[in-house]
Amino acid sequence: MKKAKKVSFYQYVPLLFLLLTSWQVSAKINVIASFSIIGDMAKNIGQDRITLRTIVGPNGDAHVYEPSPADAIAMAKADVILINGLQFEGFIKRLIAASETSAPVTETTKDAHIIRDPAGGHYHFYEGKAVFHAAPFDPHAWQSIANAKIYVKNIADAFCAADRSGCTFYQDNARAYTSKLNALQQKIKTTMAAIPEDKRTVVVGHNAFRYFEEDYGIHFLSPQGISTEAEASAADVAGILKEIKRNKASAVFAENISNPRLVAQIAAEAGLSVAGTLYSDALSDPAGPASTYLAMMEHNVTTLTTAVNNGKPRR
Ligand SMILES: [Zn+2]
Ligand SMILES: [Zn+2]
Repeated sequence: MKKAKKVSFYQYVPLLFLLLTSWQVSAKINVIASFSIIGDMAKNIGQDRITLRTIVGPNGDAHVYEPSPADAIAMAKADVILINGLQFEGFIKRLIAASETSAPVTETTKDAHIIRDPAGGHYHFYEGKAVFHAAPFDPHAWQSIANAKIYVKNIADAFCAADRSGCTFYQDNARAYTSKLNALQQKIKTTMAAIPEDKRTVVVGHNAFRYFEEDYGIHFLSPQGISTEAEASAADVAGILKEIKRNKASAVFAENISNPRLVAQIAAEAGLSVAGTLYSDALSDPAGPASTYLAMMEHNVTTLTTAVNNGKPRR
Protein backbone atom coordinates (compact mmCIF):
# COMPACT_ATOMS: atom_id res chain seq x y z
CA MET A 1 0.00 0.00 0.00
CA LYS A 2 1.20 3.43 -0.92
CA LYS A 3 2.03 5.60 2.02
CA ALA A 4 -0.06 8.80 2.17
CA LYS A 5 2.04 11.79 1.37
CA LYS A 6 2.68 13.94 4.38
CA VAL A 7 1.36 17.46 3.92
CA SER A 8 3.51 20.16 5.35
CA PHE A 9 1.98 23.32 6.81
CA TYR A 10 4.13 25.35 4.46
CA GLN A 11 2.26 23.98 1.45
CA TYR A 12 -0.75 25.91 2.70
CA VAL A 13 1.05 29.22 2.90
CA PRO A 14 0.28 30.37 -0.68
CA LEU A 15 -3.39 29.45 -0.19
CA LEU A 16 -3.54 31.30 3.10
CA PHE A 17 -1.94 34.32 1.50
CA LEU A 18 -4.48 34.25 -1.32
CA LEU A 19 -7.38 34.02 1.15
CA LEU A 20 -6.06 36.92 3.22
CA THR A 21 -5.53 39.24 0.27
CA SER A 22 -8.93 38.49 -1.23
CA TRP A 23 -10.50 39.12 2.18
CA GLN A 24 -8.69 42.43 2.32
CA VAL A 25 -10.00 43.43 -1.07
CA SER A 26 -13.59 42.65 -0.14
CA ALA A 27 -13.51 44.10 3.39
CA LYS A 28 -15.47 47.32 3.36
CA ILE A 29 -15.04 50.14 5.80
CA ASN A 30 -18.04 50.94 8.01
CA VAL A 31 -19.05 54.55 7.55
CA ILE A 32 -21.58 56.50 9.60
CA ALA A 33 -22.95 59.73 8.16
CA SER A 34 -24.93 61.88 10.54
CA PHE A 35 -27.51 63.08 7.99
CA SER A 36 -28.67 62.59 4.41
CA ILE A 37 -26.60 65.28 2.66
CA ILE A 38 -23.27 64.04 4.04
CA GLY A 39 -24.50 60.47 3.40
CA ASP A 40 -24.99 61.24 -0.29
CA MET A 41 -21.51 62.74 -0.62
CA ALA A 42 -20.00 59.74 1.19
CA LYS A 43 -21.77 57.37 -1.20
CA ASN A 44 -20.31 59.20 -4.19
CA ILE A 45 -16.78 59.02 -2.82
CA GLY A 46 -16.81 55.61 -1.13
CA GLN A 47 -19.07 53.74 -3.58
CA ASP A 48 -18.67 49.96 -3.16
CA ARG A 49 -15.66 50.14 -0.84
CA ILE A 50 -17.82 51.35 2.05
CA THR A 51 -20.82 50.15 4.02
CA LEU A 52 -22.79 53.30 4.71
CA ARG A 53 -25.31 54.02 7.43
CA THR A 54 -26.99 57.42 7.49
CA ILE A 55 -28.48 58.30 10.85
CA VAL A 56 -30.97 61.06 10.02
CA GLY A 57 -32.54 60.00 6.73
CA PRO A 58 -34.47 61.77 3.95
CA ASN A 59 -36.76 64.61 5.08
CA GLY A 60 -35.49 64.06 8.65
CA ASP A 61 -34.85 66.89 11.06
CA ALA A 62 -31.46 66.48 12.74
CA HIS A 63 -32.42 68.99 15.44
CA VAL A 64 -35.10 66.84 17.00
CA TYR A 65 -33.77 63.39 16.08
CA GLU A 66 -33.78 60.80 18.86
CA PRO A 67 -31.07 58.15 18.30
CA SER A 68 -32.07 54.47 18.51
CA PRO A 69 -30.14 51.62 20.16
CA ALA A 70 -29.35 50.41 16.61
CA ASP A 71 -27.61 53.73 15.94
CA ALA A 72 -25.38 53.19 18.97
CA ILE A 73 -24.53 49.63 17.91
CA ALA A 74 -23.65 50.81 14.38
CA MET A 75 -21.59 53.65 15.83
CA ALA A 76 -19.60 51.18 17.96
CA LYS A 77 -18.64 49.19 14.84
CA ALA A 78 -17.82 52.23 12.70
CA ASP A 79 -14.44 52.88 11.11
CA VAL A 80 -15.31 56.42 10.03
CA ILE A 81 -17.86 58.86 11.50
CA LEU A 82 -18.81 61.87 9.39
CA ILE A 83 -20.67 64.78 10.95
CA ASN A 84 -21.42 68.37 9.99
CA GLY A 85 -20.50 69.87 13.36
CA LEU A 86 -21.11 73.51 14.32
CA GLN A 87 -23.89 72.31 16.64
CA PHE A 88 -26.05 71.07 13.78
CA GLU A 89 -26.57 67.55 15.12
CA GLY A 90 -27.88 68.10 18.63
CA PHE A 91 -27.89 64.36 19.37
CA ILE A 92 -24.40 63.45 18.17
CA LYS A 93 -22.24 64.04 21.26
CA ARG A 94 -24.49 61.91 23.46
CA LEU A 95 -24.66 59.17 20.82
CA ILE A 96 -20.87 59.05 20.36
CA ALA A 97 -20.36 58.88 24.13
CA ALA A 98 -23.06 56.24 24.65
CA SER A 99 -21.71 54.01 21.85
CA GLU A 100 -18.14 54.11 23.24
CA THR A 101 -16.93 54.11 19.64
CA SER A 102 -13.22 54.40 19.03
CA ALA A 103 -13.65 55.59 15.43
CA PRO A 104 -12.32 59.03 14.54
CA VAL A 105 -15.02 61.68 14.13
CA THR A 106 -14.58 63.91 11.07
CA GLU A 107 -16.23 67.33 11.03
CA THR A 108 -16.87 67.79 7.33
CA THR A 109 -17.06 71.58 7.78
CA LYS A 110 -13.38 71.69 8.80
CA ASP A 111 -11.62 74.43 6.77
CA ALA A 112 -14.91 75.48 5.13
CA HIS A 113 -15.87 79.14 4.90
CA ILE A 114 -18.08 79.53 7.97
CA ILE A 115 -20.44 82.42 8.63
CA ARG A 116 -20.60 83.73 12.17
CA ASP A 117 -24.23 84.27 13.20
CA PRO A 118 -24.53 87.73 14.78
CA ALA A 119 -27.63 86.58 16.66
CA GLY A 120 -25.79 83.56 18.09
CA GLY A 121 -28.31 81.19 16.55
CA HIS A 122 -31.58 80.94 14.66
CA TYR A 123 -35.22 80.00 15.22
CA HIS A 124 -37.21 76.92 14.38
CA PHE A 125 -40.96 76.72 14.74
CA TYR A 126 -42.43 73.48 15.98
CA GLU A 127 -46.22 73.50 16.03
CA GLY A 128 -46.06 77.28 16.06
CA LYS A 129 -43.75 77.35 19.04
CA ALA A 130 -40.49 79.25 18.51
CA VAL A 131 -37.40 77.28 19.53
CA PHE A 132 -34.04 79.07 19.55
CA HIS A 133 -31.26 76.91 18.09
CA ALA A 134 -28.08 78.26 19.65
CA ALA A 135 -25.29 78.00 17.07
CA PRO A 136 -22.84 80.93 17.00
CA PHE A 137 -21.44 79.61 13.70
CA ASP A 138 -24.18 79.00 11.14
CA PRO A 139 -24.18 75.21 10.60
CA HIS A 140 -25.92 75.19 7.18
CA ALA A 141 -22.59 75.42 5.33
CA TRP A 142 -23.57 72.83 2.67
CA GLN A 143 -25.89 75.41 1.10
CA SER A 144 -22.72 76.82 -0.52
CA ILE A 145 -21.30 74.64 -3.28
CA ALA A 146 -17.86 76.12 -2.60
CA ASN A 147 -18.17 74.62 0.88
CA ALA A 148 -19.55 71.32 -0.46
CA LYS A 149 -16.21 70.86 -2.25
CA ILE A 150 -14.46 71.13 1.12
CA TYR A 151 -16.87 68.57 2.63
CA VAL A 152 -15.87 66.24 -0.22
CA LYS A 153 -12.16 66.70 0.44
CA ASN A 154 -12.64 66.03 4.17
CA ILE A 155 -14.65 62.87 3.44
CA ALA A 156 -12.01 61.56 1.01
CA ASP A 157 -9.27 62.28 3.58
CA ALA A 158 -11.21 60.39 6.27
CA PHE A 159 -11.65 57.38 3.96
CA CYS A 160 -7.95 57.43 3.03
CA ALA A 161 -6.97 57.41 6.69
CA ALA A 162 -9.20 54.40 7.38
CA ASP A 163 -8.38 52.46 4.20
CA ARG A 164 -4.96 53.26 2.77
CA SER A 165 -5.17 50.80 -0.11
CA GLY A 166 -8.34 52.50 -1.35
CA CYS A 167 -7.00 56.02 -1.23
CA THR A 168 -6.44 56.48 -4.96
CA PHE A 169 -9.97 55.22 -5.57
CA TYR A 170 -11.45 57.72 -3.09
CA GLN A 171 -9.41 60.59 -4.46
CA ASP A 172 -10.42 59.78 -8.05
CA ASN A 173 -14.09 59.68 -7.03
CA ALA A 174 -13.74 62.92 -5.10
CA ARG A 175 -12.19 64.56 -8.16
CA ALA A 176 -14.97 63.33 -10.47
CA TYR A 177 -17.67 64.48 -8.02
CA THR A 178 -15.98 67.85 -7.55
CA SER A 179 -16.03 68.49 -11.28
CA LYS A 180 -19.82 67.91 -11.19
CA LEU A 181 -20.01 70.41 -8.33
CA ASN A 182 -18.00 72.93 -10.37
CA ALA A 183 -20.32 72.58 -13.35
CA LEU A 184 -23.42 73.00 -11.17
CA GLN A 185 -21.92 75.99 -9.37
CA GLN A 186 -21.34 77.74 -12.69
CA LYS A 187 -24.88 76.95 -13.85
CA ILE A 188 -26.43 78.25 -10.62
CA LYS A 189 -24.41 81.46 -10.75
CA THR A 190 -25.64 82.18 -14.28
CA THR A 191 -29.26 81.33 -13.43
CA MET A 192 -29.35 83.37 -10.24
CA ALA A 193 -27.64 86.35 -11.86
CA ALA A 194 -30.61 86.64 -14.24
CA ILE A 195 -33.11 87.33 -11.41
CA PRO A 196 -34.12 90.99 -11.43
CA GLU A 197 -32.76 93.10 -8.57
CA ASP A 198 -36.24 93.91 -7.21
CA LYS A 199 -37.20 90.23 -6.90
CA ARG A 200 -34.28 89.09 -4.84
CA THR A 201 -36.03 88.86 -1.47
CA VAL A 202 -37.97 85.72 -0.53
CA VAL A 203 -39.31 84.13 2.67
CA VAL A 204 -38.56 80.74 4.26
CA GLY A 205 -39.59 79.10 7.52
CA HIS A 206 -36.15 78.98 9.14
CA ASN A 207 -32.89 80.76 8.49
CA ALA A 208 -31.03 77.96 6.66
CA PHE A 209 -29.99 79.77 3.49
CA ARG A 210 -27.45 82.36 4.55
CA TYR A 211 -24.65 80.57 2.71
CA PHE A 212 -26.79 80.38 -0.42
CA GLU A 213 -27.60 84.06 0.07
CA GLU A 214 -23.92 84.97 0.32
CA ASP A 215 -22.93 82.96 -2.78
CA TYR A 216 -25.82 83.86 -5.09
CA GLY A 217 -27.21 87.20 -3.91
CA ILE A 218 -30.73 86.18 -2.91
CA HIS A 219 -32.04 87.63 0.34
CA PHE A 220 -33.95 85.25 2.61
CA LEU A 221 -36.27 86.48 5.33
CA SER A 222 -37.45 84.15 8.07
CA PRO A 223 -39.64 84.58 11.14
CA GLN A 224 -37.81 85.34 14.38
CA GLY A 225 -39.19 83.95 17.59
CA ILE A 226 -40.42 86.64 19.91
CA SER A 227 -42.76 84.68 22.06
CA THR A 228 -42.30 81.10 23.24
CA GLU A 229 -46.01 80.55 23.81
CA ALA A 230 -47.40 77.20 22.72
CA GLU A 231 -49.62 78.85 20.12
CA ALA A 232 -48.32 80.59 16.99
CA SER A 233 -47.58 84.04 18.23
CA ALA A 234 -49.16 87.00 16.55
CA ALA A 235 -46.01 88.98 17.35
CA ASP A 236 -43.75 86.47 15.52
CA VAL A 237 -45.89 86.73 12.41
CA ALA A 238 -46.32 90.50 12.66
CA GLY A 239 -42.54 90.94 12.68
CA ILE A 240 -42.00 89.02 9.47
CA LEU A 241 -44.98 90.70 7.78
CA LYS A 242 -43.35 94.07 8.41
CA GLU A 243 -40.08 92.77 6.92
CA ILE A 244 -41.89 91.35 3.89
CA LYS A 245 -43.47 94.72 3.21
CA ARG A 246 -40.31 96.72 3.79
CA ASN A 247 -38.20 94.44 1.56
CA LYS A 248 -40.95 93.85 -1.02
CA ALA A 249 -40.49 90.06 -0.78
CA SER A 250 -41.62 88.28 -3.92
CA ALA A 251 -42.32 84.72 -2.77
CA VAL A 252 -42.77 82.45 0.26
CA PHE A 253 -41.42 78.90 0.39
CA ALA A 254 -42.15 75.85 2.50
CA GLU A 255 -39.30 73.56 3.61
CA ASN A 256 -39.20 69.80 3.54
CA ILE A 257 -38.15 69.48 7.19
CA SER A 258 -40.77 71.70 8.74
CA ASN A 259 -44.51 71.91 9.08
CA PRO A 260 -45.81 74.20 6.29
CA ARG A 261 -48.54 75.71 8.48
CA LEU A 262 -46.57 78.73 9.68
CA VAL A 263 -45.33 79.76 6.21
CA ALA A 264 -48.84 79.23 4.82
CA GLN A 265 -50.16 81.63 7.46
CA ILE A 266 -47.42 84.17 6.69
CA ALA A 267 -48.06 83.92 2.93
CA ALA A 268 -51.82 84.35 3.39
CA GLU A 269 -51.42 87.41 5.60
CA ALA A 270 -48.83 88.94 3.24
CA GLY A 271 -51.03 88.36 0.21
CA LEU A 272 -48.44 86.02 -1.33
CA SER A 273 -48.72 82.35 -2.16
CA VAL A 274 -46.51 79.46 -1.09
CA ALA A 275 -44.47 79.01 -4.24
CA GLY A 276 -43.01 75.55 -3.64
CA THR A 277 -40.80 73.60 -1.28
CA LEU A 278 -37.11 74.23 -0.73
CA TYR A 279 -34.83 71.53 0.67
CA SER A 280 -32.74 72.97 3.46
CA ASP A 281 -31.50 70.48 6.05
CA ALA A 282 -32.25 67.10 4.42
CA LEU A 283 -32.65 65.41 1.05
CA SER A 284 -35.95 64.05 -0.25
CA ASP A 285 -36.64 60.32 -0.40
CA PRO A 286 -35.33 58.55 -3.56
CA ALA A 287 -38.56 59.20 -5.50
CA GLY A 288 -38.57 62.92 -4.63
CA PRO A 289 -37.01 65.86 -6.49
CA ALA A 290 -33.99 66.24 -4.19
CA SER A 291 -32.74 62.71 -3.63
CA THR A 292 -29.07 63.72 -4.04
CA TYR A 293 -27.13 66.82 -3.06
CA LEU A 294 -26.72 67.82 -6.73
CA ALA A 295 -30.45 67.32 -7.39
CA MET A 296 -31.31 69.27 -4.23
CA MET A 297 -29.30 72.35 -5.22
CA GLU A 298 -30.70 72.23 -8.73
CA HIS A 299 -34.27 71.79 -7.45
CA ASN A 300 -33.94 74.74 -5.06
CA VAL A 301 -32.64 77.00 -7.82
CA THR A 302 -35.38 75.96 -10.25
CA THR A 303 -38.06 76.44 -7.57
CA LEU A 304 -36.71 79.89 -6.67
CA THR A 305 -36.32 81.18 -10.22
CA THR A 306 -39.67 79.77 -11.36
CA ALA A 307 -41.43 81.54 -8.47
CA VAL A 308 -39.81 84.93 -8.81
CA ASN A 309 -39.98 84.99 -12.61
CA ASN A 310 -43.77 84.60 -12.50
CA GLY A 311 -43.93 80.91 -13.18
CA LYS A 312 -41.40 80.85 -16.02
CA PRO A 313 -38.07 79.21 -15.34
CA ARG A 314 -35.43 81.57 -16.72
CA ARG A 315 -32.47 79.96 -18.47
ZN1 LIG B 1 -31.25 74.94 13.40
ZN1 LIG C 1 -31.53 74.22 9.92
